[in-house]
Amino acid sequence: MLQPVRKQIRVRGIVQGVGFRPFAFNLAQRLQLAGYVLNSSAGVLMELEGDPAQIESFLCELRENPPPLAQIEDISVENLDPVGYNSFSIRESVDVPGQLAPVSPDVSTCADCLRDFQTPGNRRFGYPFTNCTNCGPRYTITRMIPYDRPLTTMACFQMCEQCLREYEDPSDRRFHAQPNACRDCGPAITLSVEMARQLLREGRILAIKGLGGFHLVCDPFNDAAVQLLRERKKRSDKPFALMVRDVAAAETICIVSEAERAALISIRRPIVILAHRPDAPISQSLAPGNNTLGVMLPYTPLHHLLFDDACSALVMTSGNLSEEPIVTGNREAALLLGSIADAFLFHNRDIHTRVDDSVARVFAGQERVLRRSRGYAPHPITLGFPVAEVLACGAELKNTFCLTKDHHAFLSQHIGDLENYETLTFYRETLDRMQRLFRIAPKVIAYDLHHQYLSTKLALEMTDIQKIGVQHHHAHIASCLAENGIADKVIGVAFDGTGFGADGKIWGGEFLVADFEGFERRAHFRYVALAGGDRAVREPWRLALSYLLDTFGAQIESLDLPLLRRIPAKKIATIRSMIERRINSVETSAAGRLFDAVASIVGIRDEVNFEAQAAIELEVCAQPSVEASYPFEILTGSPWQIDVRPMMEQLVRDVVAAKSVGWISAVFHNTVVAIVVEVCLRLRSEEHIDRVCLSGGTFQNVYLVERAVASLRAEGFQVFLHSKVPPNDGGISLGQAVIANAALKS
Ligand code: ZN
Ligand code: ZN
Ligand code: FE
Repeated sequence: MLQPVRKQIRVRGIVQGVGFRPFAFNLAQRLQLAGYVLNSSAGVLMELEGDPAQIESFLCELRENPPPLAQIEDISVENLDPVGYNSFSIRESVDVPGQLAPVSPDVSTCADCLRDFQTPGNRRFGYPFTNCTNCGPRYTITRMIPYDRPLTTMACFQMCEQCLREYEDPSDRRFHAQPNACRDCGPAITLSVEMARQLLREGRILAIKGLGGFHLVCDPFNDAAVQLLRERKKRSDKPFALMVRDVAAAETICIVSEAERAALISIRRPIVILAHRPDAPISQSLAPGNNTLGVMLPYTPLHHLLFDDACSALVMTSGNLSEEPIVTGNREAALLLGSIADAFLFHNRDIHTRVDDSVARVFAGQERVLRRSRGYAPHPITLGFPVAEVLACGAELKNTFCLTKDHHAFLSQHIGDLENYETLTFYRETLDRMQRLFRIAPKVIAYDLHHQYLSTKLALEMTDIQKIGVQHHHAHIASCLAENGIADKVIGVAFDGTGFGADGKIWGGEFLVADFEGFERRAHFRYVALAGGDRAVREPWRLALSYLLDTFGAQIESLDLPLLRRIPAKKIATIRSMIERRINSVETSAAGRLFDAVASIVGIRDEVNFEAQAAIELEVCAQPSVEASYPFEILTGSPWQIDVRPMMEQLVRDVVAAKSVGWISAVFHNTVVAIVVEVCLRLRSEEHIDRVCLSGGTFQNVYLVERAVASLRAEGFQVFLHSKVPPNDGGISLGQAVIANAALKS
């Protein structure tokens, strides 16, 4: 053996609660190295003493084969003089005040635990809270860091002798698995699984306590049960998600590609949006008007227990009253869900942090998160540059907020629409906890310019903090830049339903030339009137009327359009005068509103029950093989205005001529693609920028986004989309945070 050396090694990233210390212990044993390993609030700290070649092997193994859940960001190595350690030990956790240590998201049950759980005779056979260092609850049970059992909601369960032995044995898979438990010592459920299954078979609705909150559960093959759930939940036609027994069960209901399969079985276990098989014998009330279904696989042992040969799928929708946060406490559930559920399946492991199911979809070649929550949060987005401690408040709908520190952006889990007191309370509570958990004390706060957003009001109320207002669509594009690691100027195409503009109007069909420092608004859809503000959002026919008046003026009266017969003449007259006299009518350039208008003109729907419903149904019917598009004009000036009146003229003619809705929808979508490409081409010839970022809720439209990406690439553009954060307003907070950081630097 060569002269022994000693090295101190610091590992940063997600390295706690992921089996890192037993990994280090076992590796050190194997390589005959002495020293120690410990968890600190700044990451994992190790000292290794022994043969230099063996230490090299250790480092090599650490880099190439770390524990499966670890996400190493940085390994630093320092040389020290040997002190003569004679063994390798795991030392007590130490806390380094002020230092950051990311908390792991919750992880779905691993294959080893599933085997324990499914093997008769194993002491965890059928035990619904089986977990190990590679899986189980994390963020939802963590009260404080460092991540140790007394600081989790498992503190009240005293481990039995056998569990404790596992917990203390570095060679065991459950070594320091903080939620480690068994039937003798751990949490338990209140309703027998047999009873739960029987009630579900009988068409009853169950409230089941899960990992991040309650679910409302029923049999998706029983239409009456699904309709009853809709009625009781007062949710008219927003889709319900399904949980299926396994991938094979998913395939009987939906079409599953290779990439979608990978998303389904990933340890994050999001709800994956899949194409629905039209012949699947499933209730038509699950996702009315939609050709997709949200499907997820079981992610806790309790979920696995619910399925058997007779049960391959269950409706699993968030246990909440409409638009309120998902319910987490037993008492709260009994109170709030009592009028919806026929029975409850409770358990006694407390959910400290409320976390909804995440939603992802595979398009344009990869998994893209649309709602970032369980399994993803609070894992940070790593930025390629150092950032100050900033709080970005996010937007109003699908809210998340974002805290930055070091070179991390910590997005909160999905908070929801900040429209009621309960959601605002959830926001405040989560903000408070995340600030403590990640030890971030922001001196700067970024907010949306819309003064009516509750998140903005919250920001403006704060004292002793520097405030930076960020334009909504600039934030969308900056968010896309940040997650793609781009620092240069790009052409940013931001299409969504609404966002407060720098001119006081409602933007949402925007072409920006932007970077973190600023933006220039270079083109937008021509303004039309949003008659009655929010009412116009709920009643797309009002937008249709705006576009028709804009296009045809007084000649609208001679149009033989079904829409104008469907809506009572008196209503039309009222709204028409509002539009013409600009009473209670702000102007909007939002692309989302154009989709609404077209959906109404072609006869899909005149009123919506949830955001983007009309646009989704318009997309669903678009025929994929159509190549045609409608004409449009780009009016020069500063900024350019995109004039869709030529399109409207022909589109209305096609509707009057009773051409198929599917054909018209496709031609309309193709027109929007052509607009994106044409404006980008013109901007490139002036700016010499060939990078394009597509962001905003409208780019969840798969028909639109896949064609836009293909056409832009065919013209030689480099196109960037979201994948780590949502393209919708759930991604706004990240953009706000990086913009505020840039403002601080300049
Ligand atoms: Zn496990
Ligand atoms: Zn036990
Ligand atoms: Fe938006």
